[in-house]
Amino acid sequence: MSAKFIFITGGVVSSLGKGLASAALAALLQARGYKVRLRKLDPYLNVDPGTMSPYQHGECYVTDDGAETDLDLGHYERFTGVPARQSDNVTTGRIYSDVIAKERRGDYLGGTVQVIPHVTDAIQEFIGSDLTDEDFVLCEIGGTVGDIEGLPFLEAIRQFGNNQGRDRSCYIHCTLLPYVRAAGELKTKPTQHSVKELLSVGIQPDVLLCRSERDIPAGERRKIALFCNVRESCVIPALDVDTIYDVPSTYHREGLDVEVLRHFRMLEDAADEAVDLSRWREITSRVRAPEGTVTIAVVGKYTNLLDAYKSLNEALAHGGIANRVKVELRWMESELFETEDPIHHLEGVNGILVPGGFGERGAGGKIEACRFARERDIPYFGICFGMQMAVIESARNLAGIREASSTEFGETKEPIVGLLTEWQRGNVMEKRSVADDKGGTMRLGAYPCVMDPESRVAAIYGSRNISERHRHRYEVNVGYRERLEETGLHFTGMSPDGILPEIVERKDHPWFVGVQFHPELKSKPFDPHPLFESFIAAAVKQSRLV
Ligand code: GLN
Repeated sequence: MSAKFIFITGGVVSSLGKGLASAALAALLQARGYKVRLRKLDPYLNVDPGTMSPYQHGECYVTDDGAETDLDLGHYERFTGVPARQSDNVTTGRIYSDVIAKERRGDYLGGTVQVIPHVTDAIQEFIGSDLTDEDFVLCEIGGTVGDIEGLPFLEAIRQFGNNQGRDRSCYIHCTLLPYVRAAGELKTKPTQHSVKELLSVGIQPDVLLCRSERDIPAGERRKIALFCNVRESCVIPALDVDTIYDVPSTYHREGLDVEVLRHFRMLEDAADEAVDLSRWREITSRVRAPEGTVTIAVVGKYTNLLDAYKSLNEALAHGGIANRVKVELRWMESELFETEDPIHHLEGVNGILVPGGFGERGAGGKIEACRFARERDIPYFGICFGMQMAVIESARNLAGIREASSTEFGETKEPIVGLLTEWQRGNVMEKRSVADDKGGTMRLGAYPCVMDPESRVAAIYGSRNISERHRHRYEVNVGYRERLEETGLHFTGMSPDGILPEIVERKDHPWFVGVQFHPELKSKPFDPHPLFESFIAAAVKQSRLV
């Protein structure tokens, strides 16, 4: 293991954008040709965020290897293109459950099991695990310095740095400089306190990333440097930007990557010419100068918390970047359509998207949205639950299966969508039962899908074979295939064994696609997902018709 480790902590307040900052720094190092890896250490007690409400914690990001992880891993993957893995996210819950399992097995040979060293050792083991030839491993510590839960993690990274040597580890602390209007000043005191708090657990930050709404005057930078014991050039202003994709370039201008390289005594590599930011410049210039606008209605349930649909939000923006248009999103509570005619809300939109979701509440409204899109030739994109609802809609309104439903909503005579308890993953048969624990028991992670070569989706992907990420318990029932295909809803993507419908599409419609997987998880600004690119292209076309 020859990697250098960068630890990112946060202070003063939460929601400073530490995840984005970590992703942006990784992108900068990558733009210099280094191999990077990003990890998130979350101090909460859930074993993983899979069971957490998206209202509380935002989206649950799923990796190829089937881990349900923190949404910051989505930022990491979007900014670097490096596929996130199970081994990139850990929580206090997982660490403790491993330590306790070891204790039960007797692995500690009669010793007293304690936070230090057993828990901190387990955290350090995680930090150094599953690495190959990475140049830099960036580990973000969730939460804010001073939280009780975070202490074992801070202690573990302190020990890790000590064991590795200071030239192999760097501590970046992300803080806030609030602007106090009455005084007309940016205040440095909260930052000073936060650094003191870090020092009290033995960590001297090497770089301070100072989030601020306004320019930080040189005098304030000097003051922070003096009081926080860092070099002045290591007080990096991190001002708000108009697009998140400008963060790497902004940090570069402020010298973040150079300071990190200086810390590691790698200044010989720090020349400005060695960093290629052209991909980020291209993205930001497209974001800032779109050639048009399309409006997409996203009909879901967690529409009042955008973090619940983080990747979706980004993937739609990527579709816009690819088509050089701005994508305006209209988030709508699907329940609205259960009492009101969708026309009042959906007229004039250029595309309708029903995203993933769980539970019966609002399902009727989503089905109405599908119907509206289908009948009025508005581009429709159904993702996971959105595909299931589209299938139920066609079954009920076109195939005459009036009682078509999903067993997710209770027993039904017509389980168009049902619980599948066995499926093939590689060479392994995965089994689930209704009574299983809720955590980690869905069809999770990457599964292959084979497409009909004549289909629209095969043309969109430019290939017949794809692999996409899943997170669901229920499946469209292949037993209804024929009756549904007669209505024009074609099953154009299937699992390789032909049992699980993965993609449906309508051929009698300008753009109507439902997918059982979550394509939004793999979209990147510099490599927009083909389905999002195509969906937005269809919306652009639609906008020219109205
Ligand atoms: N609730 C549905 C299922 O479990 C869909 C899940 C989703 O949209 N991610 O199958």
